[in-house]
Amino acid sequence: MSIKSNIDYVNELKGAAAEKSGRKAEDVLLVAVTKLHTPAEINEAIDAGVTDIGENKVQEIMKKYDEVKPVRWHLIGHLQTNKVKYIIDKVCMIHSVDSLHLAKEIDKRAAQSGLTMDILIQVNSAMDEKKFGITTDETDLLIKDISEQCPNVRIRGLMCIAPYEDDVDMARPYFAAVKKIYDKYAAQKTERVDFKYLSMGMTNDFQVAVEEGSNLIRVGTAIFGYRDYRQEEK
Ligand SMILES: *Cc1c(COP(=O)(O)O)cnc(C)c1O
Repeated sequence: MSIKSNIDYVNELKGAAAEKSGRKAEDVLLVAVTKLHTPAEINEAIDAGVTDIGENKVQEIMKKYDEVKPVRWHLIGHLQTNKVKYIIDKVCMIHSVDSLHLAKEIDKRAAQSGLTMDILIQVNSAMDEKKFGITTDETDLLIKDISEQCPNVRIRGLMCIAPYEDDVDMARPYFAAVKKIYDKYAAQKTERVDFKYLSMGMTNDFQVAVEEGSNLIRVGTAIFGYRDYRQEEK
């Protein structure tokens, strides 16, 4: 299978899931997750119509940035405060904000670069100890604190990684819990809390996530095949 035919297939499934929840295929943004894949593979995906790509490590963005064709970059993985400065002018959105401390560093670097950074709050609705993110109960307070203390940050929505389940239907309640918070804020937009993206769904569960209301999916394996993690430390 070529990268292009994989993308076409993911888009087809995405469209079907969107229709099931009363929306259109184009209402759901596909972010192709390119971690551990080469600039050549990424450029092939861009040629096939991909507009947005996601990386989970700052170093990988730095390494590939100049070799990849113009595209919107998303930082989707855990971000350390000391690395914010390297990507502040490279990514269009940071999906993994889970503390005021991190938001303040993003705010500071955004101000220095004369920009406003779009972020998502990472919610760990399953309270999975192995994953980053805040609990649903902590979400209101973090959104309030960031909106009051970080003028160069705009909160655009929420991100969630469901716990891996063999039966993907088991993830539905976790997605639904995050969708509920999303809807509340989407109905009361302000300048700094301007919800537009609900980032939920990966290769194994994106159809279920879209059915539960996701409008941004992060898909890697279904597009590029399995990742070779042995390359990671090279
Ligand atoms: C790797 C990754 C994905 C994509 O996972 P696949 O199962 O390959 O689709 C999505 N989101 C995050 C945060 C990731 O790190």
